[in-house]
Amino acid sequence: MMITPETQLQTIPRISPKYAKALEKMSIFSIRDLFFHFPFRYDDFSEMRSIAELWSGQIATIQGTAIKIKNVRTWKKKMHITEAQIQDETGTIKAIWFNQPYISDTLTEGKKVRLSGKISADSSGLYFSNPVWEMESRIPTNTGRLVPVYPETQGLTSRWLRWQIQTFLKLNLEIKDPIPQDILKKLNLPEIKKALKCIHFPNSKDEYLVAQKRFAFEEMFLVQIKSIQVRSSWQKEKSVQIKFNEKLIKKFVDSLPFKLTNAQKKASFQILKDLEKSRPMNRLLNGDVGSGKTIVAEIASVQAISSGYQVAIMAPTEVLAIQHFNNFCKIFKDYDFNIALLTNSYKMFYSCHSALDAESILSKNDSVDSRFRGNDKERIKILEKLKSGKINLIIGTHSLIQKDIRFKDLALIIVDEQHRFGVAQRAYLQQQIENINDGLKNTVPHFLTMTATPIPRTLALAFFGNLDLSILDEMPKDRKKIITEIVGPLERKMKYDFIREEIKKGRQCFVILPLVEDSKILTEVKAAVSEHKKLSEEIFPDLKIGLVHGKLPAKGGSASGGKSKETVMKEFAEKKLDILVATAVVEVGIDIPNASVMIIEDADRFGLSQLHQFRGRIGRGEHQSYCFLFTSSDSGLAKKRLQALVKNSDGFAIAEKDLELRGPGQFFGTRQSGIPDIAMENLTNIKLIQIAREEAQTFLQSDPELKKHLLLKDALQKFDEKVHLE
Ligand code: ADP
Ligand code: MG
Repeated sequence: MMITPETQLQTIPRISPKYAKALEKMSIFSIRDLFFHFPFRYDDFSEMRSIAELWSGQIATIQGTAIKIKNVRTWKKKMHITEAQIQDETGTIKAIWFNQPYISDTLTEGKKVRLSGKISADSSGLYFSNPVWEMESRIPTNTGRLVPVYPETQGLTSRWLRWQIQTFLKLNLEIKDPIPQDILKKLNLPEIKKALKCIHFPNSKDEYLVAQKRFAFEEMFLVQIKSIQVRSSWQKEKSVQIKFNEKLIKKFVDSLPFKLTNAQKKASFQILKDLEKSRPMNRLLNGDVGSGKTIVAEIASVQAISSGYQVAIMAPTEVLAIQHFNNFCKIFKDYDFNIALLTNSYKMFYSCHSALDAESILSKNDSVDSRFRGNDKERIKILEKLKSGKINLIIGTHSLIQKDIRFKDLALIIVDEQHRFGVAQRAYLQQQIENINDGLKNTVPHFLTMTATPIPRTLALAFFGNLDLSILDEMPKDRKKIITEIVGPLERKMKYDFIREEIKKGRQCFVILPLVEDSKILTEVKAAVSEHKKLSEEIFPDLKIGLVHGKLPAKGGSASGGKSKETVMKEFAEKKLDILVATAVVEVGIDIPNASVMIIEDADRFGLSQLHQFRGRIGRGEHQSYCFLFTSSDSGLAKKRLQALVKNSDGFAIAEKDLELRGPGQFFGTRQSGIPDIAMENLTNIKLIQIAREEAQTFLQSDPELKKHLLLKDALQKFDEKVHLE
């Protein structure tokens, strides 16, 4: 049998169907997949000792002969104990295993073995408790070295994985390296075969660190190639030129109830200038929550629409789409625009010049109004109006980029992404937009994305180097500062009393519960349900308390009579609830100006930027607002981090701090970034991303289509598939 990295594991005789199944569960099908199943940590058993040198508490490895072996059942007959005496030239030590009776099948008297583990002590002396062991004649795999520990699943132990991986590595199979050799050489990174050896069976910490760095680089390099390719294909496109009409813009800006901040002026101007070009704009508007990004989007829209083109706005959730719809309808009420809302469950057409004025169809708390609901017929009507050009502005979710949607003359797409996407997903989205049927021959729309999380400039350059950047680093003037406090367990009661007072004054309160990283959604729901119960039964039995968590249906009522997220949010918005308990997974992105207090439970578990995001949900009305960061952590670092939030209200400063304290991996969070774990975990500094970007740039200059690097092209393809499957 000819074995290659692509050989399927189930065809290997040594691997029984039972194991093949377990491997499949972890998406490991081929030998290559197995090679890329990386350890998540290493046990350091590299310290070799003679028995006389051992001391209690030490982690060490010894080699010796098994001289006495016995199996014992404990008095309750519940526990099976295997005991062995191991001897070397310097002495003897006892080894004990619990509930592993099969050990005595292979570990028999006279065998020469190697043992690794922690040394314990009792009245009769030193002993090994549950040590790992293997025959001395074997190449050190499970003992006597840095031992890899893998993500496991039922029936699949690290010990088994080590054996398999080591056996396959020994075959010295031909594994082609997608990264060009000269780049690796230049960066002093190992080629793929060496790196695989080092990541599974390193001889030193340095060896696995450099191997990890190599694979992190590989991922980043692919991300960067992808993003540069999208950029250059974007730059080859043409777009319509939308002339800057100063009079129009001035009139619009003068009609606003406030003065633009300088940052807003500057960003708007940059965008209006971009729109004049025959190359499509590709710009990221980066500003803190509440920095006023919407108005900038509105300025761009008024210009595009008045020049006779269509504009599309995409929001990440239906709730936010509706909020934008309200907002745009109101702001354009004196303009002769037709605006439509189109999401999966909401369809609505609104003509600014109809007999109805905005206020009368859009009631005050209409953010989740059932009157916006529409059926398929209405969807078809809206699609027709889009195609004929009757609709000037359409607002929706990602459902706006569906195949059957045709525009007449779409010239501008704005994506309010609220920090949802990473570079790779964004590149994918952009490709989709490039293919959108905008109705205009041979052009693509101008593209503006807005992100609600301030991204430090250094990081933005590395991650979003393919975009032009506008930054809103200045908050509208009359914003009240949110009073933020760190609250320990002892002051909890006091804060509850304070909240009661606020509610008496007519205010409302959010309680945000932590999202435990990699915890199952069910645990989270449980925590939310029990917190809700505690608050409504013990602490505030007299108040009305709502609950939203990830498992509630998005909208409508559930069969069991339970409420949907939407209903609960609506009740909160309408002041039918005093307190809203929400898990961190729930989008609380809607404006509730009357909410003036926020409690964040276990605040130390969140990233600073995320905390800052939550906090941005309050302080939107005229009332003084308060954010209480509850924590029971004594850790100095946790306190220091939270302090940064107490002291700062500037999102950019907070983001810089977060970056400094936790690194970019944590900053973006693996889930949002779309960047694989290994890369994320190893991005302790942004240098690597910058290097990856520079290398990708130089590389693409010499081979823009990857014609000479088919392996890389292949890897990119696979990477691509992975990204949009997510
Ligand atoms: P975000 O950047 O989070 O999307 P919004 O665009 O929703 O922020 O703006 C937040 C609030 O600030 C809105 O109510 C908006 O009307 C208001 N606002 C925007 N710009 C200004 C300004 N220059 N002066 C005063 N208020 C402003
Ligand atoms: Mg916004």
